[in-house]
Amino acid sequence: MPNSLLDVPFGEWGRVLELPEKETYRVKQIQEWVFARRAKSFDDMTSLPALLRVKLKESFSLRALKTIGHDVSQKDGSSRMTFETGDKKTFSSVILPSRSRETGEERLSLCLSTQIGCAWRCAFCASGKVHFVRNLFSSEIMEQVMCAEDVTGKKVDSLLFMGMGEPLANYHHVLWALRCLRSPLGFGYGARHVTVSTSGLVPQILKLSQESPKVNLAVSLHAADDETRRKIMPKSSWSVQQILKSVWAYQKQMGNVRVTFEYVLLKGLNDSLRTAQRLSNMLRGRNVWINLIEYNPVPGLAFQKASRDAMEKFEGVLTKRGLFVRMRKPQGADIKAGCGQLSY
Ligand code: SAH
Repeated sequence: MPNSLLDVPFGEWGRVLELPEKETYRVKQIQEWVFARRAKSFDDMTSLPALLRVKLKESFSLRALKTIGHDVSQKDGSSRMTFETGDKKTFSSVILPSRSRETGEERLSLCLSTQIGCAWRCAFCASGKVHFVRNLFSSEIMEQVMCAEDVTGKKVDSLLFMGMGEPLANYHHVLWALRCLRSPLGFGYGARHVTVSTSGLVPQILKLSQESPKVNLAVSLHAADDETRRKIMPKSSWSVQQILKSVWAYQKQMGNVRVTFEYVLLKGLNDSLRTAQRLSNMLRGRNVWINLIEYNPVPGLAFQKASRDAMEKFEGVLTKRGLFVRMRKPQGADIKAGCGQLSY
């Protein structure tokens, strides 16, 4: 597989292309072609000297990811793209359309994958059931954005690192992708339009708070006590309190960014009123949102979604105590693109 130019930090482009000092402005030109004009090949970069284009072509790839499938949900318009990597592996990401409440305009969110397979093995998730294959490169993470643009003919408004994989277990590649996605010289996404979701890797949350540009954080909490969490997320060795502490540190370091706690409601496991009270005691008074997620059934797994009544009561406890809660509508379940349904 040729190296992708997108995996090389901007500061090194001049060196790897052996540009003489007086030609370092070429870096800016290439960035413009790649990001502002979304060139699909080095041949498209017609303002560059032919020799430089040859050099780029010989040394790097630009678009290595092939979109080999695009299934659209008949129910809600969400869609699942399937990709093939340079080494012939496949994985998916999900496009989620929504309407802006203020303007009525359509907005697109992209639910990106960061790994092929997932080693985190959350008991209720389809991604945790398949073998872990490999980390995605930064380029493969970012190219999902370009592929979504090609498929829809529209700009993607917000990016959710909520597809297959545990983003913070692929820390190095995710960090460069975040820098490039946020950089005005790269994709130029605003801080509020990028959200990284993690199952709660404490050391990496702390590292991210020091090293990443500002991005929203989402934490898949799913339990209010350690015993329940260990049952459904057996690989997570951090206590709920340790996770919360790292989240508050992240929030402080990032200037009070939005933190969301994701909470899949599972019948008989984490959906009781007592649990809701416990959760609200832990989170009240903080600048957080809680996303209550309806469980998407995964074939072969015995979990059941909480009843509508239990979900509403759970939500009631949280909102009564002043917490911001959203009940996430299930999307894409008919095309196996719902939360926790991504496999490969
Ligand atoms: N590994 C990261 C990114 C995945 S995000 C993380 O855990 O945050 C995917 C979200 O969907 C997570 O909150 C995950 O816990 C949730 N999820 C997993 N399986 C699900 C299922 N079957 N139904 C609903 N949500 C699920």
